[in-house]
Parts: sequence; C-alpha cells; structure tokens
Amino acid sequence: MACRFGITAIGDDAERLTDAAEDAFHEIERIESLLNMYDADSMLSAVNQTAASRPTEVDDEVFELLLVAGTIWERTGGAFDPTMGPLVRLWRAWRSAGAPPDQDAIDQTRQQVGMDHVKVDVPGRTVWFDRPGVEIDLGAIGKGYAVDRAVAVLEGFGIDHCLVHGGTSTIAARGSMDAGSTGWRIGLTDPSDRQRDDDVIVLRDVACACSNQQNQSYEYEGRQLGHVIDPRTGWPAPAESSMLVISASATEADALSTASLVLGEDAAAELTRTFPEVRIRCLAAGAEPAPGMPDRASGENDRERVYET
Ligand code: AMP
Ligand code: MG
Repeated sequence: MACRFGITAIGDDAERLTDAAEDAFHEIERIESLLNMYDADSMLSAVNQTAASRPTEVDDEVFELLLVAGTIWERTGGAFDPTMGPLVRLWRAWRSAGAPPDQDAIDQTRQQVGMDHVKVDVPGRTVWFDRPGVEIDLGAIGKGYAVDRAVAVLEGFGIDHCLVHGGTSTIAARGSMDAGSTGWRIGLTDPSDRQRDDDVIVLRDVACACSNQQNQSYEYEGRQLGHVIDPRTGWPAPAESSMLVISASATEADALSTASLVLGEDAAAELTRTFPEVRIRCLAAGAEPAPGMPDRASGENDRERVYET
C-alpha cells in the first residue's frame, strides 16, 4: 500500500499491547499480500491474470471486499471505480515523461475500465471480466480495509483505546487517547501549507480518510496531474482540493474520500444523501463547509469538534 502504518494502543499490560500491535501489523501485511495489484503473486493479481479468460474463484475475504467495492461504485454513480487499474498504469507510465498520455491511448484504455465489465457469481464465489485488459485496483479502499482489520485484531485482545492509521490519511479511532480526553485529537493538514495543521477534530469510535493529490502529482502546462482518475474523462481529478470523509468504517471512508475527490465539493456533499451516516468535508483553501461539518473560519467554537458513531 506504499505507506507506513501506525498503531497506538493504550492499556496497563505492556506485553499484551506489544503482542496485539505485532499481530495487527501482521494482519496489515497479510492484507497487502492479498490486495496489491503490483505484486504478481497477490490474490488480486491471480484474479486479474485469469478472469478475462474464465470465471475465477476468489477467496472469501477478497470476494466480500469486491462486493463492498461494487456497492460503493454503484452508490457513488461510478466516481469510485475499483477497475481503474489500466488507466492508473497508463498515467503512471507517463509520469516520468512529465506529460499526459495521448488522448487516443486514454480513450482506448477507458474501454477496459468500468465495474460493469466485472461479473460476479455470488454463490459460486467466482469473478470474470467481459473483455480482455480489465484490471481490478483496490488501491482506493485497501488501506481503509487494512486499518479496519488491524483495529479488529486489537479489539480481539480486549484493547478499548487505540488509534490505527495508514499513511496518516486513513485513521480509525477507538475510545480515547487518555482519561482526560473525549477521543483522539487529529490534526488536519492545511492543504496550502503542509507543514501546519489548520484544524483539529476529535474522533471516538469512528474512522476518517483524507484523499488528496498534492503529494503524488506532476505539473503539466499549469495543471496538476495526480493519481486519482476521474472515470468520466479518464483524466486525473483536479488536484487542488483535499476531501475528508468521516464514517463508521475506514474501508468506507477510504473509498468515499477518493470518490469525493473525483466528484468535487458540491457533488461530494450530495453523497451524504446516499450515505446519511457519513460526513464529508472539503479541505481546499477557502472552501465552505458542507452541512453538519465545522466551518474552519468560524473559530474556537468549532475547533476540536467530536465525531463518534
Ligand atoms: P486514495 O489515495 O485512497 O484516494 O486512492 C488512490 C488510488 O486508487 C490510486 O493510486 C489508484 O490506484 C486508485 N484510483 C484512482 N482513481 C480511482 C477512482 N476514481 N476510483 C477508485 N480507485 C481509484
Ligand atoms: Mg481512498
């Protein structure tokens, strides 16, 4: 998942906490080995290699995640698309050239993208693609899933107070950071100055994910080209904004933050109709807060607002 994961767990028994954290890190590694599309030996790569030629059996866990991803694809109107692999590879290949791919190449590659090309047989646990070249890419949801699984491992050890993050951008919090706190304080990086936090939120028994492209984009003719692709055009989504999503599950928050980046602020705010339990906030400089989210400009009253399930 190309990022560093972090675990903070609180309790009295240091040995137990260490064992729990070690197991949780192993769980994250296990998930990486299932879902990494760049690793030819992963479960996902095995599916990608054969599903265009025949129905391919998928292990239960990856199959379930694929169904979740398919549901989010449907409910975001396709903005989150777990078949973005071919376009992601195309754009990655051009990254070193510092230029976009040819429009013809983009148009051709788009023929291989779309969750509607992925067919599933739920009782049989098989998946097949209706054309060659389709590739499932769970990069926008896998980090959240790994965070959720790590939390489940810690909970299995009876740990009630913990924080797990993937790359600091996908976070799940349980309980609180100390006896005097209502939850875990999370600094939100200022998109225009990544050295400083311009707000703090407090999470308790809830997860959040932030998608942005500032770290992974290159400039071409005044336009920032990032790693999140808009399925409607085959081009990268605008790179200026950061989208924060708060949800009960890190899996869902991760997928929806990517979808929100694709959709842009207004359409992303509409997503809360389909996902009423979810909060979505645009962190771009000067952005207005969505209903139910704190206004950065309004000062102290909204600072350190607590989110919980
Ligand atoms: P995230 O950092 O969670 O926003 O996920 C970004 C990763 O998801 C990219 O590196 C791609 O592998 C993949 N991706 C890019 N665009 C999309 C999209 N529209 N829907 C789903 N996955 C995407
Ligand atoms: Mg994501």
